[in-house]
Amino acid sequence: MRVLKFGGSSLADAERFLRVADIAVNTHGQSQVALVLSAPAKVTNHLVALVEQTSRGMDASPTLFEINGIFSRLLAGLKAAYPALDEKALQARLTAELDQVERLMQGIRLLGQCPDNVQAHILSRGENLSIAFMHELLRVRGLELDVIVPEQMLVTDGGHLEAHVDIEASRLRFAAKGLRTDCLYLMPGFTGGSDKGETVLLGRNGSDYSAAVLAACVDAECCEIWTDVEGCYNCDPRLVPDAYLLKTLSYKEAMELSYFGAKVLHPKTIAPVAQFHIPCLIKNSFNPQGPGTLIGVDQGDDDLKVKAISDLSGMCMFNVSGPGMKGMVGMAGRIFSAVSRAGVSIVLITQSSSEYSVSFCIHSYDSDKTRKVLEREFELEFKNQLLDPLEIMSDLAIISLIGDGMRTSKGMAARFFTSLAQASINIVAIAQGSSERSISAVVRDRKVAEAIKACHQNFFGSQQFIDLFVVGVGGVGAALVDQIARQQPVLAEQGTGLRVVGIANSRQMAVNKDGLSLANWREQLVEARDSFSLEAVKKLVEESHLINPVIVDCTSSEAVAVQYADFLAAGFHVVTPNKKANTGSLDYYKALRRTARQTRRKFLYETNVGAGLPVIENLQNLIKAGDKLRAFDGVLSGSLSFIFGKLDEGMAFSDATKIARGNGFTEPDPRDDLNGMDVARKLLILAREAGMALELSDVEVEQALPPGFDVSGDVESFMARLPEADGWFRDQFALAQSEGKVLRYVGSIEGGKCKVAIKAVGADEPLFKVKDGENALAFFSTYYQPIPLVLRGYGAGTEVTAAGVFADVLRTQNWKQEL
Ligand code: ADP
Ligand code: ASP
Ligand code: MG
Repeated sequence: MRVLKFGGSSLADAERFLRVADIAVNTHGQSQVALVLSAPAKVTNHLVALVEQTSRGMDASPTLFEINGIFSRLLAGLKAAYPALDEKALQARLTAELDQVERLMQGIRLLGQCPDNVQAHILSRGENLSIAFMHELLRVRGLELDVIVPEQMLVTDGGHLEAHVDIEASRLRFAAKGLRTDCLYLMPGFTGGSDKGETVLLGRNGSDYSAAVLAACVDAECCEIWTDVEGCYNCDPRLVPDAYLLKTLSYKEAMELSYFGAKVLHPKTIAPVAQFHIPCLIKNSFNPQGPGTLIGVDQGDDDLKVKAISDLSGMCMFNVSGPGMKGMVGMAGRIFSAVSRAGVSIVLITQSSSEYSVSFCIHSYDSDKTRKVLEREFELEFKNQLLDPLEIMSDLAIISLIGDGMRTSKGMAARFFTSLAQASINIVAIAQGSSERSISAVVRDRKVAEAIKACHQNFFGSQQFIDLFVVGVGGVGAALVDQIARQQPVLAEQGTGLRVVGIANSRQMAVNKDGLSLANWREQLVEARDSFSLEAVKKLVEESHLINPVIVDCTSSEAVAVQYADFLAAGFHVVTPNKKANTGSLDYYKALRRTARQTRRKFLYETNVGAGLPVIENLQNLIKAGDKLRAFDGVLSGSLSFIFGKLDEGMAFSDATKIARGNGFTEPDPRDDLNGMDVARKLLILAREAGMALELSDVEVEQALPPGFDVSGDVESFMARLPEADGWFRDQFALAQSEGKVLRYVGSIEGGKCKVAIKAVGADEPLFKVKDGENALAFFSTYYQPIPLVLRGYGAGTEVTAAGVFADVLRTQNWKQEL
């Protein structure tokens, strides 16, 4: 015989009912079938709500109406497909059942509570009606049928709501009764019988267990769990869209997986089938041809060290601690027997090695019961302060790594915890199953999706995702988005899923949690309704459970820069060419680094100095290697490199500036370059990297204009006045030339001081030949002297800067798949 169990999701409406009947009829053609059915989807939830509402004196008739609706629609649908169906009889049965429920509700209302036996009766109506409907449907299709009544056949203990089936005793009943071989059997799931033959429940989601128990009682050749997914996946497919289907699982793996939350199987399902070595198959009722997942004796696959990752939400953790715990024999025993007396099952236990405390996780719904029972058990100890007050943490979840192969492999736990850390997830407690088949971490409930995604990416993922919010789409930002659009396919092939989930300018923000399509991002931005704010992007990241979000600030705005610390604290990496944050107060500069360290996020700004030139990272590496910056000279501005280079050729200063402006080398208002502040900011950033505690006001700045030159008025009047500076520059240049030197606008660090000024530079100095927009940076350090380390190259321009930002973005991908 094959036992086929269909869950509520497979019985939700008439169409699905008919599909189940087809599967039953087809399978029955090959071997004898016993069908175990759940209630149609939502019915049990409604029944639970109904009992709760009525107990609290609320009107539950709308809920009863909903239930009636589900079955009435079902009936109409079945009748339409099979006109011979005895609609009247089914309607009468439905009315009778619901009338009885209504009468019971009156009793509950009077009592103000619902006795367990009444509750068990009410909650099991869904399964009973499912069987009545399927019985009639299969009868019309000409099958010989019989019904197994669980109240009579499944012997249980453990109360009315979470009963446990005594398999040996139940097997004896089946043996005594004997089964027919000429019929298809039907049995309602979720229920069994008390010693008085009353209805008892096997716990929510318990129809899987019913099927397993029946399979064990009749020595079935197979126990098939038919549901709404293709089988058992390596993690919850609702959380991870690219979760993959497991072809096989050992009983032990399946047991751990269901125990630690894989909803596709009730945790008690595996024990009975494992005991009698009955293969268990999980199948999709929407795709009967699919292979499903086979659970059996030797179905473990040791090649896959980690088989699956599961999550179990709705947990709380109790911590029992205090000086009385130390060395006192039997404390753990007392704790756990007290909890078990309360009928509460403990999901996970950890003990600190100091024996000072014992922590354990239970379902949150058991929290009150557990607290009361422990307070009673340890009343004296609490009074005498041998125990500290009970500590209870709620809103927790357990994430577990499962696989038989973990017993023989190293480094799994390390990678597990690293994955969680890299996704900014704090681990509340950890535990390893003594079989080494599972490792569990307790985390905050609201972080479950991120935790599962991070672990899945790290253990199984072919793609590591980086999710970008690009703020500011002027020159550099726009170039970056276009570069990303071009590179996305190449990166995807190499395993990096680079998604731009948000693009913002100062007014609007276009978002898409799965990544904007970049072909027409400009149009999407024009049509966008959202606007950029910390709250808005945080909300998107939280709702979409993005685990590697990056803010790319391509504005030059101070308003955005002052928020970096908040972004880092909220779990974002920050990448930026914007110099404002690094040249803000020294306190903020330090706070950014401190926050990044604490939240394990990256703050990257390689393009702050020298655009695409690898300046910052090189300097950081030198300093890390113990080098010390003694002095520095640099041409740090592309536009001023161009203008001063033209003086070498005899061009007037005003003409050179005009050309630079015309070519877009300068800011729209050239005074923003000529005032030297941009160079001062870059110099300050270098000085701070080198460990100097300076503020921007400590940088001495001489503008790139004659002393006292009038810089007032609008741009055009300033440009018109500029030829007045030509004479001064000509004189300065002639003076320099007489010594074989040229004029350069130089940022220097010497003797702990930073200075930006026009400088005469000799032929033997590194900056002598630097012109035409080129940048050069000469670092004189302990290791590099007397010849400095010189970095030279084109240090401006949107494309190179964007490429530098792009490289920083890729550096946020901070872990690699190793399996
Ligand atoms: P049924 O109504 O058939 O009993 P359930 O809703 O109880 O179905 O269980 C099936 C659901 O379990 C799937 O729809 C899926 O969303 C969820 N699920 C959670 N974890 C897993 C997993 N690892 N593999 C497959 N399904 C899972
Ligand atoms: N109908 C019951 C429930 O919803 C049992 C089951 O579906 O397995 O909990
Ligand atoms: Mg289920």
